[in-house]
Amino acid sequence: EQSLRSRILELNKMAAKYFYYQLRQEGGAHAMRYLKDRQLSDETIHHFGLGYANKYSDDLYRYLKGKNIPDELLAQSGLMQVDEKRGMYDKFWNRVIFPIMDVNGRVIGFGGRVMGDGKPKYLNSPETVVFDKSRNLYGLNFARTARKKQLLVCEGYMDVISLHQAGFINSVASLGTALTSQHASLIRRYTDEVILTYDSDEAGVRAALRAIPLLAEAGVTARVLNMRPYKDPDEFIKALGAEEFQKRIDDAQNSFLFETDILQQSYDMSDPSGKTAFYEAVAKKLVGFEQELERENYLEAVARRYGVSADSLRKMVNSIALKGMNFSR
Ligand code: ATP
Ligand code: MN
Ligand code: MN
Ligand code: MN
Repeated sequence: EQSLRSRILELNKMAAKYFYYQLRQEGGAHAMRYLKDRQLSDETIHHFGLGYANKYSDDLYRYLKGKNIPDELLAQSGLMQVDEKRGMYDKFWNRVIFPIMDVNGRVIGFGGRVMGDGKPKYLNSPETVVFDKSRNLYGLNFARTARKKQLLVCEGYMDVISLHQAGFINSVASLGTALTSQHASLIRRYTDEVILTYDSDEAGVRAALRAIPLLAEAGVTARVLNMRPYKDPDEFIKALGAEEFQKRIDDAQNSFLFETDILQQSYDMSDPSGKTAFYEAVAKKLVGFEQELERENYLEAVARRYGVSADSLRKMVNSIALKGMNFSR
């Protein structure tokens, strides 16, 4: 007897093929147009196995029932929703479909986007026995073959796909969920350096600030790419192209300096005591570097960046380090 896992994987594959086929039918023409309007090539659409879920909410259900798939399995797959009154119906309808693959290229779930401004913009499969959001990264099945020094970590499906199309096949996304420590360990299997290419909005900055320490803990250093004035990699590449994006990768900021820049925003730097308080906060962060050489390198970088003398900053750091010691033992 087949395991539940392999039965669901097989079912996902059937569904992915069905969606892929529907995108190429007359009923899917507007979905194809949507993808083309977003400047995806036929090759890219094919490579990522993009599809279309028809506009009837029982379309996939009827198809799969025609293949004698039992309701119980359909419910466990996350492809269907179960409602007391309505019974079972499709999770996705009238949406562009993004199959989500694991590192081995097996379809573990789906994302679906409305074409236009409807809500919610994206729907994602629920967690199932084969789909654990905190342990999978969209695009990793391709990125792992990239043989690049770093991985680019971004937010969304379209970012990964656009980056890929522009030649940056070393891109992955954590898909709306925050990066987890499991994601960080997964990344560490392939590289020890990531470039964070999250959206340039407030949510993206917050996501980067949370990701940096998790990555560090897993042994992955992070740099942060400046996307401005564009919102995300997809928009950036459409506007400025791959060469400019590569420049931004090369110029990506060290994560420590990214953090201190953000920190600085909550201090009044035009006020002497505000300035001192900021330097103190930076000194506290510097104390966190246990290796003296590393601490000294950061100290000098920070001193230069914020126009404070390295000597006074060093004194501050040393006095904080002393206070932090425990002499009572
Ligand atoms: P697009 O370019 O298609 O508008 P995006 O990727 O720029 O999409 P964001 O709003 O930046 O969209 O969201 C980033 C990612 O977060 C999406 O790709 C998707 O995986 C996830 N996401 C966004 N909105 C939702 C939602 N309403 N429900 C679940 N996940 C979402
Ligand atoms: Mn976003
Ligand atoms: Mn975005
Ligand atoms: Mn976008």
